[in-house]
Amino acid sequence: MSLTPTGEIKLVFWPMAGSAEAQVTNLLHTLQWIRDAKPSRKEVHEWLKVTFGGLSEYFARNVYTVLLSSPGLVEVKDGKCCLTRDGYAVLTSPSTDYLLEVFARHFVGIAEILEVLQAKKSLDRNSLTMEWFALTSSRFSQMKRWSARHISNQLRERLDWLRSLGFVGIVDGQYLLTAAGRRFAVEHPPELILLSSSEIEAEEKAIRSLLTEPFNPFDTEVQRVQSSRQAFARNQGFRAVVVPEYTYSCAVCGFCLSTPRGIYEIEAAHIIPKSQRGADHPRNGIALCGIHHWAFDKGVISVAPNELTVLVAAYLKSRLDEPLVKQIVGFEGQPIRRVVHKQCSPAPESLEWHNRNVFIG
Ligand SMILES: [Zn+2]
Repeated sequence: MSLTPTGEIKLVFWPMAGSAEAQVTNLLHTLQWIRDAKPSRKEVHEWLKVTFGGLSEYFARNVYTVLLSSPGLVEVKDGKCCLTRDGYAVLTSPSTDYLLEVFARHFVGIAEILEVLQAKKSLDRNSLTMEWFALTSSRFSQMKRWSARHISNQLRERLDWLRSLGFVGIVDGQYLLTAAGRRFAVEHPPELILLSSSEIEAEEKAIRSLLTEPFNPFDTEVQRVQSSRQAFARNQGFRAVVVPEYTYSCAVCGFCLSTPRGIYEIEAAHIIPKSQRGADHPRNGIALCGIHHWAFDKGVISVAPNELTVLVAAYLKSRLDEPLVKQIVGFEGQPIRRVVHKQCSPAPESLEWHNRNVFIG
């Protein structure tokens, strides 16, 4: 089942023709052919029918729609099929991580398999089916109408995919994440979990409502999130509040760049980190580019609580001739960017805590 950008819901997930092991190879082979041949859609259907052992017209069309077109790997321009940016990236990527990321973005239930196995370590097929269905259908209620047989088929197809990608294994009848699967689940949670915009908006609203209360730099019981999914939504909500306050620019260097798809590079840093129960309050946040976020989290830089100027660790100052070090030291004493709404300005309490506990000095 997938949710297309237009909100249309597709209830099928068809694996590429062939065994689980052959699926990735078959998909890459098909992408390569499309890249070179620039065929019409009809020619792709014909090619799929012939190449994968006489598929029916119906199945070939579905493979095209579900595996190539819906996940955004292939698009049609002037009547010719060609690879999208994602399609090229999948074809040239040395690992299957990117392919999984693309599929997880488009097919509901893949992220949930990884989520269940990450929490439970290992599960037999029946327990996995129950846990997966409970979790996924709680998020996508259309699934509640599925028959037991349909649920089992849908899960099997996804599991075949994850096994063929090397992310899920079976040991003594128990399903578990392989080392690669665990690494992927840890490294990619936000991309993997398809948050709905309403989940993020609910968290954004909760964060904005904190502005009407007295500032507390630390997390309170009320703020604590209940699940990892809510934590991701909270993070996105925090970013949605903090980053526009700095007009999508780094508070230290003013860097402001987005990808061709309009995704801004700027991150929302917690001044008192989450690991120290720092609050998801806009005043405990600051927008930073990748390099200054890293430097801030490691205590290489900080911000003076009242003057709101950049502080730089002393050990770096003798290395001004190194261009990258200059990217950090060069901003010493400079005022940070001002927020749009004064009530979102970084709190002196949070900055004092950062000066004392994180900043190397
Ligand atoms: Zn920066």
